[in-house]
Amino acid sequence: MPDHRHKRLSILGSTGSIGRNTLEVVEQFPDIYQVEALAAGTNIELLSTQIQKFNPKCVCVLDEQHAIQLKKWVQSPVEIIFGPSGYEQIAAYPGTNMVVSAIVGAAGLMPTIAAIRSGKDVALANKETLVMAGEIVMRDIKKHNVRLLPVDSEHSAIFQCLEGHQRTDLSTILLTASGGPFRNRDFSTFKSIQPKDALNHPTWSMGQKITIDSATLMNKGLEVIEAHFLFQVPVTEIQVIVHPQSIVHSMVAYHDGSIIAQLGIPDMKGAIAYALSYPNRLPLNQPIPNFFDIQSLDFYEPDLKKFPCLSLAFEACSLGKTYPAVLNAANEITVAAFLNHQIGFMDIPHFIEKALAHHQPEKEMDLDSIVCADRWARNMLNQWMTKNA
Ligand code: NAD
Ligand code: MG
Repeated sequence: MPDHRHKRLSILGSTGSIGRNTLEVVEQFPDIYQVEALAAGTNIELLSTQIQKFNPKCVCVLDEQHAIQLKKWVQSPVEIIFGPSGYEQIAAYPGTNMVVSAIVGAAGLMPTIAAIRSGKDVALANKETLVMAGEIVMRDIKKHNVRLLPVDSEHSAIFQCLEGHQRTDLSTILLTASGGPFRNRDFSTFKSIQPKDALNHPTWSMGQKITIDSATLMNKGLEVIEAHFLFQVPVTEIQVIVHPQSIVHSMVAYHDGSIIAQLGIPDMKGAIAYALSYPNRLPLNQPIPNFFDIQSLDFYEPDLKKFPCLSLAFEACSLGKTYPAVLNAANEITVAAFLNHQIGFMDIPHFIEKALAHHQPEKEMDLDSIVCADRWARNMLNQWMTKNA
């Protein structure tokens, strides 16, 4: 077994899909990983089970009500805190050396920044952090001399394909996408798509928001912006390729025409484990793809007419400034409205486009202007959707 540094972890979003998968990896390697602190939203049933099993010193929940309820349930002397400042406390928890950032949406931004600014390495699943504040995050990473290790499977793949190579030799990032559940669906029927149809992802099992993002291809759009900041690559050098089997997790093309790809079964544990153990690899005992069963791997061009969210993300990324934060906020609001049956599937790109068109970007690129742009977009969207109802 390779020599792993003993790691003490804070896990933000421990009750979510990534959080649960992370704890499964941790459970497999009790000699390497120790859970110091956990943060969840409102699922205190599962959080109390996690407290029993992993014995953290401190946990955070969304609000006081959930904290009081949780206190009644747990016997252990764990400290229970709540709210936005609580999440930042968990992220900066003394003694931890790595933070897993797996809260969903914009709520993950401040805790992730708090982790970086307190000198912790970050295993980043919360792509919204880089979409909203990529420049600031990358600057802080350098300033505080910490590592930002991607958990998103495509970015983990790209990260692995870049290892041992010169950045100056890179020509194009080839970002693969499953294409989601509506890849082959007739466009004329898109208006009648229901949340239950969109929640039925063909290859990946994930939280609700990212599953809808995968159905609109906004997930890939957010990933383009994430890759642009994380790997410091111009958006014109990122190409999206639809690959329905989700076996090739992404590729990197070099100037000599060589392409390096990373492959594996579609299971987030591989990417999570690599972020936790980098530069080593854990003996995870994951099955490898059976190529005799798979036989062929397919690749297609994305259909931008069916999936305008992908074009909108490319556009926001090219515009830069606070546009990606507006794209992200508008997406969060419209996805929640779609899940609540308030708007249709094609209203998601419609309203995001409107938000980008009306946005006046802030001049300064600091955290305040990002939070401002995020708030502006949420307010506008709520007004427009109320008028529409
Ligand atoms: P999820 O919905 O399953 O879990 C989200 C977690 O965040 C839960 O623990 C929830 O309690 C917590 N949470 C939700 N709202 C919160 C709030 N306002 N404040 C604090 N905590 C809150 O989501 P997920 O699928 O695990 O995704 C988490 C993040 O990882 C997302 O940013 C997603 O884009 C990214 N990601 C997920 C996958 C995947 O396979 N699930 C893959 C790549 C990237
Ligand atoms: Mg991904």
